[in-house]
Amino acid sequence: MKIGIPKETAAGETRVAFVPALAGALVRDRHEILLESGAGGRAGVGDAQYAAAGATIVGSAADLYAAADLVLKVHPPTIAEAGLIREGAAYIGFLAPFSNAPVLQVFLRRRITGYAMEFIPRITRAQSMDALSSQATIAGYKAVLVAAERIDKMFPLLMTAAGTVTPATVLVLGAGVAGLQAIATAKRLGARVEAFDPRPAVRDQVKSLGAVFVEMELPKDAETAGGYARELSPEFIRKEMEAIGARLPKVDVVISTAQVFGKKAPLLVTKDMVERLRPGAVFVDLAAEQGGNCELTRAGETIVHQGVAIIGAVNLPATVPADASALYARNCFNLFRHLYPKPDAQPDPADEIVMGACLTRGGEAVNAAVRQLLNSSQGSS
Ligand code: NAD
Repeated sequence: MKIGIPKETAAGETRVAFVPALAGALVRDRHEILLESGAGGRAGVGDAQYAAAGATIVGSAADLYAAADLVLKVHPPTIAEAGLIREGAAYIGFLAPFSNAPVLQVFLRRRITGYAMEFIPRITRAQSMDALSSQATIAGYKAVLVAAERIDKMFPLLMTAAGTVTPATVLVLGAGVAGLQAIATAKRLGARVEAFDPRPAVRDQVKSLGAVFVEMELPKDAETAGGYARELSPEFIRKEMEAIGARLPKVDVVISTAQVFGKKAPLLVTKDMVERLRPGAVFVDLAAEQGGNCELTRAGETIVHQGVAIIGAVNLPATVPADASALYARNCFNLFRHLYPKPDAQPDPADEIVMGACLTRGGEAVNAAVRQLLNSSQGSS
């Protein structure tokens, strides 16, 4: 099979979907690796390293897409890129289907088999393919560094001859993959950390990292069978906002990561609540691209309101391209090996991971939610 790795074209994207360290096993299985020249450059991997690992370097995106039987990518393709993918070929990468219906329509027309990395089921067997987790880990880590860089005080407790520096207090909202990594990173820097998440299972995870769990009565049905948070009632969110609001005058940094899969992020901090933070405090909103957890968040911008910086963090993994690419590439590689365990094997459509991740096949939307989305987008166009 010819596996194609194009250069990412999205603004600010520095990652690449494949790294040379993974080439050996594919070459041994007689797969051919085609790389668009320069695809790994921003992640610190040059064409020569890919070539030394056995890849063929291709001069243009059009040539790469025309030749590849399977495309490995980070960002969802643009409509133009989707139109370049060979008819009947396969695609592995993020697809963001709910904001990309036109791209999926191209996949249907061109009978492209589309595997969406964000739809890999969150089951133990698929953990090594879980790109949402690998990239969220990086985002959580980097969010703390962004806050530490911006804040007007240090994170650790320091006792010096010139006096004592008190530790920074960091409040983490949403303690999933990104939130837990933010807690761990802030603790390593010496901050006092508090955290909140509505899923009861999270309380012990937060405490095991040495952080304080902000206590309030938790809903019994906060979690789906897949481990995700459900959308919570307005009544619960109101009480949660009261609990958060009570903490804000005492914190220096807020890192918010609260999300509900496939939905707009819950609004947890209003403008009035921001005004309870001290001037100089920093709010890093990792949910910025999903609408933000703070009313003042603007994705990709930093807003300063009464001395408080609200940072609408976007694609933080792309600020750590070497490690982000290595982890993401390993996730894609593991999915590929699962789909094609032997050189001549074909994906098993009845397999749970295939059923979860595959959105389009043979000109049809095989995922029910995506089918509904495409039917309604066709109806409205
Ligand atoms: P996510 O990015 O969708 O959400 C981030 C966090 O926001 C979640 O912890 C969620 O509970 C929280 N949240 C939602 N509404 C909130 C609110 N109103 N206030 C505060 N927080 C709120 O989720 P994620 O981090 O990608 O994953 C969440 C969970 O999925 C994990 O913690 C884990 O339990 C499960 N998971 C399982 C596996 C696996 O292989 N078994 C892999 C990854 C994740």
